[in-house]
Amino acid sequence: MNAPITTIGTISDVDIYEEIEALKVREDAAILAHYYQDGEIQELADVTGDSLKLARAATKVPNRTIVFCGVHFMAETAKMLNPEKRVLLPDMGAGCSLSDSCPAPALARRQQQLRAEGRRIQTVTYINSSAAVKALSDWVVTSGNAREVIERVPQDQEILFVPDRHLGQYLVEVTGRPMILWDGSCMVHELFSVNDMLRMKRKLPAALTVAHPECPANIREQSDFVGGTEAMIDYVTRFEQPTDFLVATEANMLWQLEAKVPRHRYHPVPGITCACNKCPHMARNTLEKLRDCLANGTPEIVWQQQFQRASEVLRRSLIDPTATVSELPGD
Ligand code: SF4
Repeated sequence: MNAPITTIGTISDVDIYEEIEALKVREDAAILAHYYQDGEIQELADVTGDSLKLARAATKVPNRTIVFCGVHFMAETAKMLNPEKRVLLPDMGAGCSLSDSCPAPALARRQQQLRAEGRRIQTVTYINSSAAVKALSDWVVTSGNAREVIERVPQDQEILFVPDRHLGQYLVEVTGRPMILWDGSCMVHELFSVNDMLRMKRKLPAALTVAHPECPANIREQSDFVGGTEAMIDYVTRFEQPTDFLVATEANMLWQLEAKVPRHRYHPVPGITCACNKCPHMARNTLEKLRDCLANGTPEIVWQQQFQRASEVLRRSLIDPTATVSELPGD
């Protein structure tokens, strides 16, 4: 799974890798890391993946402890699917601007308003959301399974899609299903500059562009492929000849693409304010914090009341593909 640690850091880095490996054994822990984490953390992980892959992996790892290297809603998701396990998050302050853009009380008010107007709705919620928002939802989706889940919503019901307006607009386009969209967005994907991207395309005219569906429409429209992070890996794998790819998603995804499909050349599409497009929330997790949380057993995601209802929605949406609409609560 992992490359030799001597290739990636200084002597003190190597020491910390050894410390983490020893603590993993002592604490019977598995490390799950999102593709947007620094490469040095992904290299130490037992599983790397997008939100969907990691949520599913969290239900399968045999260890007593899960250390989730990602942001808060992801660690919450792992806890909801594994109430009996200890779930640690290296930095409890690792939030998500997209999740923050849809507070649960505001969603509850919007649902009430729509129902008061006599509209029959089901709420389809992107996984980048708090447990309280998931608990108010009928379905939870990731960029990897959103189309399939949307097809499970009965045609006689309207869809309220939260919180990402860009992903929602993309799903309207690819499914042909009208939706009521929440006005939220991811601060990283929002910042890609279409002008910079077009400049890169002029410099590398043979390059293909891949974009995450959280990107605004003007970026998606100029791209050769739009898909979540797992779908991006599948897409570039299809090209046998070395190819240049312009990549419009969080910059650490390049590490994963280079590791999995090294024959190609990957170029990050720059953002408006900087050329790195790194998620500042993901970046709060460091090797030192990973080591310390393993050593001290904290910060820990503790069970909360709303987790029960949210975990039922998660299981129906992500884990059990046979769940049917008849299992849904009334709208
Ligand atoms: Fe949230 Fe965007 Fe960071 Fe992902 S990249 S964790 S959606 S702020």
